[in-house]
Amino acid sequence: MSAAGATPPMIRMAGVDKFFGPLHVLKGIDLEVPKGQVVVVLGPSGSGKSTLCRTINRLEPIDSGVIEVDGQPVPAEGKALARLRADVGMVFQSFNLFAHKTIIENVMLAPVKVRGVASAEARKHGMELLDRVGIANQAEKYPAQLSGGQQQRAAIARALNMRPKVMLFDEPTSALDPEVVNEVLDVMTSLARDGMTMLVVTHEMGFARRASDRVVFMADGEIVEDAATEEFFTSPKSERARDFLGKIL
Ligand code: ADP
Ligand code: MG
Repeated sequence: MSAAGATPPMIRMAGVDKFFGPLHVLKGIDLEVPKGQVVVVLGPSGSGKSTLCRTINRLEPIDSGVIEVDGQPVPAEGKALARLRADVGMVFQSFNLFAHKTIIENVMLAPVKVRGVASAEARKHGMELLDRVGIANQAEKYPAQLSGGQQQRAAIARALNMRPKVMLFDEPTSALDPEVVNEVLDVMTSLARDGMTMLVVTHEMGFARRASDRVVFMADGEIVEDAATEEFFTSPKSERARDFLGKIL
């Protein structure tokens, strides 16, 4: 805590630029996510949403600007970077569970390896989390034996077992069959209600309206609009956001 007593935002990006070769994919991004806030990132395909997520735990290095998590600059490499990544849970479109390990083994792995948590403790907390996401009865199965929705809930439990400070979700339901999308969104909604800080890239407008505090709308590598959720949906300011909502709603 600083002398002024203010707590830092969970995520702070200031003047962030990212290039892929000649392609300028993040253009001077300024974004602060306060602790406990749920921010949904919307925008057309190719606007830079995934890249923005991936820069926060340095899956993609940035070319200029600053990114801080909980007041600390994101380290470039080494143990410090591994610690940062342990604090930033990430859930992708593809679940990336280890096929040859059971669900509970998948959930236990990283806390033991990265955080040095005792195996018994990682299993116990892992089982609590599987229970929380509604698949405790699947713990001894292998990923291929589960539905897509169950696998994605396992991936969420795996991320939570690291006891992250913040969760990033990049289109977590885009690869799922329609009938299982809601079981994953329900888990995310419950996390949001419990006060987890979340940055969520999604096209699920119902979830966005119901569960988020704020919407960040991106286009062409820029944040075009950044507004309270209800304000964004009822009176979007920019032509591009109105156009986007017109197509998607
Ligand atoms: P979104 O998630 O909003 O669809 P992305 O962040 O995936 O957008 O991509 C933003 C832009 O960067 C797109 O033009 C995409 O083709 C490009 N891009 C993404 N990843 C790479 C990469 N690894 N190498 C080159 N270009 C990339
Ligand atoms: Mg994407």
